[in-house]
Amino acid sequence: MKGKEHIYKIAPYEPGKPIEEVKRELGLSDVIKMASNENPLGPSPLALQAIREHLEEISYYPDGNCTILRQKLSEKLGFPPNCFVFGSGVDEIIHFLGLAFLDEGDEALTVEPSFVRYDASALLNKAIIRKVPLKDYQYDVDALISAINERTKLLFIANPNNPTGTFIDKEGLKRLLEKAKGKLVVLDEAYVEFVEDTTFPDSLLFLREGYDIIVLRTFSKIYGLAGLRIGYGIANEETVKAIEHIREPFNVNHLAQVAAVAALDDDEHIRKTQQVVWEGKRYLYEQFKEMGLRYIPSQTNFILVDVGKDSREVFRSLLREGVIVRTGDIFGCPNFLRVTIGTEKQNERFIRALKKVLGGAL
Ligand SMILES: *Cc1c(COP(=O)(O)O)cnc(C)c1O
Repeated sequence: MKGKEHIYKIAPYEPGKPIEEVKRELGLSDVIKMASNENPLGPSPLALQAIREHLEEISYYPDGNCTILRQKLSEKLGFPPNCFVFGSGVDEIIHFLGLAFLDEGDEALTVEPSFVRYDASALLNKAIIRKVPLKDYQYDVDALISAINERTKLLFIANPNNPTGTFIDKEGLKRLLEKAKGKLVVLDEAYVEFVEDTTFPDSLLFLREGYDIIVLRTFSKIYGLAGLRIGYGIANEETVKAIEHIREPFNVNHLAQVAAVAALDDDEHIRKTQQVVWEGKRYLYEQFKEMGLRYIPSQTNFILVDVGKDSREVFRSLLREGVIVRTGDIFGCPNFLRVTIGTEKQNERFIRALKKVLGGAL
């Protein structure tokens, strides 16, 4: 049966290629994935241990309120428990935001390129997604402010942004929030734990000051739990209440909750991951410079790098070397690859493969 007319405007998501698929298709035995911004060190050992201990409980429905995790985050971040909403990944919360706040003809504002799931959230509800271009890969706060109009309901701001790794600083965010009064500003902070720049804003401070924002955080990136699907939002009570009306009762599975609670205590794993990513970033910057490749300085665990020609070609050649990355064409940057920073060994292998693949061009 044909579906509803407007849903065909939503492009089905194209995920990064899974390792097993590449092994099978190309007959390779050793494949690494540097494509989906996952933690190269894997999950927190504390989370793994917790999952083992609670495995037998999966015959029960999960706690629909994520009570223990909610309490833990409330204490850690200093917000009341009813300021949190949980999702099967931040992806699901983005979906909830469209359902709860966007009507036909409303506008959601974002930038281009950015995370593609904002489009789906708006289009599903027959809302308009308006995209302000980045300026030389950086946020253009003035252009964003100029694009706000009376039909704007939501602003989707990935901070730092995916796929560029660039960000809105404290001063810029303050200006934007002032001009966006009466709208809900979604600050998607999927990569916040990787930020090094000291001018990056403390979004929770703005929330405390009363700005109408929802801050999104995930366990998929630095916490290494992408496969379990869990993320959360922090907002004022009214925003959370609205989402609670459309959230499905058992949307976050039990093992995800158990793992997230344990992972929050694993400061050592976080520190180690940050160290690996920050060191890896400097190594890759250096290598790109030596190779004469332009890259966009990043506050995340991935880098957008200009390979000087159709990145789909380079992508396919890298696959044959057993290295999975992402092409920029899906983000409107056809000459760029987006590479997730890996372990030291993975980064070296990626650079070797890239040198080989670009060989003649260098
Ligand atoms: C990875 C990513 C997400 C998705 O996070 P999940 O919690 O795995 O759904 C959300 N926003 C951005 C910008 C991302 O890059």
